[in-house]
Amino acid sequence: AAKDQGRNRFHYFTPSMQEEARYRMVLIRDLRKAVKQQEFEVYYQPIIDLTNEQVYKAEALIRWHHPERGLVSPAEFIPIAEDTGLIIDIGNWVFEQAAMQSAAWREKFGVEIQISINKSPIQFRDEGDSFENWIIKLQELNLASNGICVEITEGLLLDASMGVSEKLLAYRDAGIQVSLDDFGTGYSSLAYLKKFDIDYLKIDQSFTRNLESDPNDATLCEAIIVMAHKLGMKVIAEGVETKEQQQILSAAGCNYGQGYLFSKPVPYAEFEAKYLKTSEQRQHDKATS
Ligand code: C2E
Ligand code: MG
Ligand code: MG
Ligand code: MG
Repeated sequence: AAKDQGRNRFHYFTPSMQEEARYRMVLIRDLRKAVKQQEFEVYYQPIIDLTNEQVYKAEALIRWHHPERGLVSPAEFIPIAEDTGLIIDIGNWVFEQAAMQSAAWREKFGVEIQISINKSPIQFRDEGDSFENWIIKLQELNLASNGICVEITEGLLLDASMGVSEKLLAYRDAGIQVSLDDFGTGYSSLAYLKKFDIDYLKIDQSFTRNLESDPNDATLCEAIIVMAHKLGMKVIAEGVETKEQQQILSAAGCNYGQGYLFSKPVPYAEFEAKYLKTSEQRQHDKATS
């Protein structure tokens, strides 16, 4: 028994760890069920062009409606989906939903909203992962390939083993854009910015959060923006929550903002109602203004 192997070892196996392991197993079981029974929904958060406050981009963010526990945060279940490989099916599903949504919005409103999709390193590592399937889907929907943007994180760029370089080049050739998410929180080797063809840098919300009060954060944001522009990238600031943050970012030349100041991630119907207008609505607005 554990107790016979010495006090220390016994001490390590606390009930809370046992509980945690149990909880995890239950979550894994529920997640498998969720994939089968389609308990997921894609929310959309607008990405605002800071020069004119228009919305032509959105980030797709998955939501899980657990039958008993209600909404479960992706921060909680995405790591488990990655560990179990379920992220492959989930990721493909999110892609399909986002692509179909973009096509539906173009039909209904005559605008093409570029939708960003988070792609986990586990998806890149999967042998069956093929961007060709995505290209085919986009062609089926008659969507321009830059209608989709793939969000990756810095950690992925460190891993040379899964042909990341080749895949990113293939995306580039196919016209799919690439964003570097959570910039500044990972390994942030600047060499990667030179080596890989990246379209957008997303400044992590930890830099935006104290922008008004911490001059160091403002300096870092400004430096990131200047560097990105000189390297031919555009910049998206995440986690913009106040007007003052928006102003500081705009003054520094930041291209886009995303955050609660503009909107939380919302279901597609709410996104439509808030940000999209049919040509009849636009004409009506013009006539009555
Ligand atoms: P992320 O890709 O960095 O997404 C941004 C997160 O910041 C989202 O959290 C969003 O709701 C939140 N956020 C946006 N504006 C603000 C703000 O002004 N203030 C604050 N405090 N938060 C803000 P969410 O939706 O909970 O997602 C968390 C993470 O889960 C994402 O971080 C992403 O890494 C992952 N994730 C979400 N959906 C997917 C997916 O479909 N596939 C994969 N692989 N990962 C996903
Ligand atoms: Mg993201
Ligand atoms: Mg992020
Ligand atoms: Mg993140």
